[in-house]
Amino acid sequence: MSAKTDSTGTPAFQPRAEASDVLAIDRSSDKHVVIVGGGFAGLEVAKRLAGCPGLRVTLIDRRNHHLFQPLLYQVAMAGLSPAEIAVPIRSLLRDANNVRVIAAEVTGVALDARTVHGDFGTLLYDYLVLATGAQHAYFGHDEWEAHAPGLKTVEQATEIRRRVLTAFELAERETDATRRRQYLTFVVVGGGPTGVELAGALGEMSRYTLTRDFREIDPKLTRIMLIEAGSRILPSFSESLSSRATRDLERLGVQVWTGSRVTDVNATGVRVGDERIAAATVLWAAGVQASALGRSLGLPCDRQGRVHVEADTSLADHPEVFIAGDLAHFATENGPLPGVATVALQQGRFIANTIRDELEGRQRGSFRYFDKGQMATIGRRRAICESYGVKLTGFAAWVAWLLVHIYYLTGFRNRLFVLLSWAWSYLTFARGARLIVGKRWQSYGETAPAQSPRRSPSGAPPIQPGVG
Ligand SMILES: Cc1cc2nc3c(=O)[nH]c(=O)nc-3n(C[C@H](O)[C@H](O)[C@H](O)COP(=O)(O)OP(=O)(O)OC[C@H]3O[C@@H](n4cnc5c(N)ncnc54)[C@H](O)[C@@H]3O)c2cc1C
Repeated sequence: MSAKTDSTGTPAFQPRAEASDVLAIDRSSDKHVVIVGGGFAGLEVAKRLAGCPGLRVTLIDRRNHHLFQPLLYQVAMAGLSPAEIAVPIRSLLRDANNVRVIAAEVTGVALDARTVHGDFGTLLYDYLVLATGAQHAYFGHDEWEAHAPGLKTVEQATEIRRRVLTAFELAERETDATRRRQYLTFVVVGGGPTGVELAGALGEMSRYTLTRDFREIDPKLTRIMLIEAGSRILPSFSESLSSRATRDLERLGVQVWTGSRVTDVNATGVRVGDERIAAATVLWAAGVQASALGRSLGLPCDRQGRVHVEADTSLADHPEVFIAGDLAHFATENGPLPGVATVALQQGRFIANTIRDELEGRQRGSFRYFDKGQMATIGRRRAICESYGVKLTGFAAWVAWLLVHIYYLTGFRNRLFVLLSWAWSYLTFARGARLIVGKRWQSYGETAPAQSPRRSPSGAPPIQPGVG
């Protein structure tokens, strides 16, 4: 084991002295493929190796479910319930007899010893696929996360939903106009597809869905701000589509600020340059960084922490180790491949085929990404779409977006439920999953009325959507 360090000086993982395959059920001569991460890339590898003779496969994920992240904003905006976009990994691989699933966190990999480690023990592998994805980056200000959650997991989506719905509830009972305005101000930081989807859904929810439910506030007065540091939103799209998206957002009441850098985030709002914006709810959709497992390998990574890979998506000195999806820096003449689900899926498929081919004595090929285009939705019935040189906008693009997302959604039951939920909310403007669910579950120890004397100047209890 080499004592490598990564670019940040973090020492590479040191294996235990005696590594043994403690979880091995069978010690057959079958090759052992260990997959870390049951997202788009990892799950695709496992599915394609299912039933492959001469192979046993172990998929490890710290969560028990595969998550369809492209629809996560719908959970955050109360359009869908978590179970409609997340499926237990175990159930997806139920029929794959040579695949076992372990719900655990992998904390280290020893490349030379060919072992993977975590609280489950140690596993030996013949092939390793690392596909642990990415998370949000706060540009060195991790303290901002408490005030501005990102959107990557079910927990984050339900927390955003709680904050947004709580803000409307607090505004409804607030008598002080300044505080009410603060409750009804929502700031979304980052003008990529996720920020645009969140801002558009907020605009639609406040203008159409909530108008009939509140008596004391006019949700149409909600102020939604989308703040982007670059010169335009959706920079990966053509300029004309980016402008169209801006106009669509503005029609939903969203103020789009480009060329504006957020310099501070706290419990009372954000600072943009010299301007302070008082907002009870701030959502973060700017910047990502690859999972920490990548850096822990002690190999060259890019600025986002993605591990540089070869043309076959393996590591230069370890052809038995593949890196896929958001964790991989796959260089092309047009720059590295983007962190999108289609790249992850195609890489997963390629890696599974490569392993199968190698077992049958065939040579490895090179991975080629087949770019089918990109799309982003803005509210309930507008989207933009760019595919094979064709640009679509408005309702036509939204229908295309809907069909593509339903098609890729995992599991028949989920597809059906999501389609029904959408049809219902489309016809009725309803948002069925508008539940505020907190983390306090114990009935004992509830605060008695006499013990909670602290009130805000306006008389409202001292709770904030962001920190409650
Ligand atoms: C809100 C949002 C919207 C998006 N919209 C789109 C879209 O419209 N179109 C599109 O193409 N892409 C979209 N993306 C991007 C797309 O979801 C990702 O590119 C894709 O999920 C990457 O797949 P992956 O397999 O690399 O990682 P992921 O799907 O993130 O899976 C990583 C898995 O690894 C597990 N894991 C992480 N660390 C460990 C560990 N140490 N031990 C064990 N398990 C671990 C995680 O639990 C997770 O299950 C969106 C992403 C987000 C967040």
